[in-house]
Amino acid sequence: MGKNNTGSKKKPVVAVSDEQFKAAAAQRVKNILPILKKTYPDAKVALKFANAFELLIATILSAQCTDVRVNIVTKEVFKKYKTAADWANADVKEIEQDIRSTGFYHNKAANIKNASREILERFGGKIPETIDELITLPGVGRKTANVVIGGAFGKPAITCDTHVIRLSRRLQLSKNSDAVKLEFDLAEIIPKKDWMPLSNCLIFHGRNICIARRPDCPNCPIARYCPAANKPEQW
Ligand code: SF4
Repeated sequence: MGKNNTGSKKKPVVAVSDEQFKAAAAQRVKNILPILKKTYPDAKVALKFANAFELLIATILSAQCTDVRVNIVTKEVFKKYKTAADWANADVKEIEQDIRSTGFYHNKAANIKNASREILERFGGKIPETIDELITLPGVGRKTANVVIGGAFGKPAITCDTHVIRLSRRLQLSKNSDAVKLEFDLAEIIPKKDWMPLSNCLIFHGRNICIARRPDCPNCPIARYCPAANKPEQW
């Protein structure tokens, strides 16, 4: 006694090599991207901007804040501060009041002012066009740099925000949750031309269907390719 006599057998655990995991992930992207592009034909950076500098400022403001709120704030502040010099020379207390409703306004105001000053002093007032240069600016991490590179300069970029991280786990595109490791994992398995489209589509899908707490798997157009379909809590 003590043994289960129902006759059911446990399935043997099949080890998957890293190479097999990556090949399966790459194939999954090939399957889901056309569907996501069709589902979200307007998927692009939701922040409103007229140039690379404005997108940089808007992205710094978007930390812990909705794009909708940022767009409301930038509609006004971009009329007042038009250049890097305008931000660099402004009183930080005044910037704080102007961006207050985006939250964390002490840090954001200091970062925007200091980044603007460095853009003036080190880059001649122009936004640098490489990630390595952008991340040397105060308050600019890889995510912000990628948003600017992809959104303003139209160069290949992977933006690992909270949606991209969550969906990449559920879709088993990477085993990593760390944004930087995940970015490099995705870059390895996805053709460069698809970096931005996939990032934007995953963000839209994460906002609309594959939301954090209650993903709508029954109505998900990519469910047949998703290892987490109907059991997202496992990922
Ligand atoms: S099937 Fe569910 S878990 Fe998978 S992508 Fe769709 S909504 Fe997300």
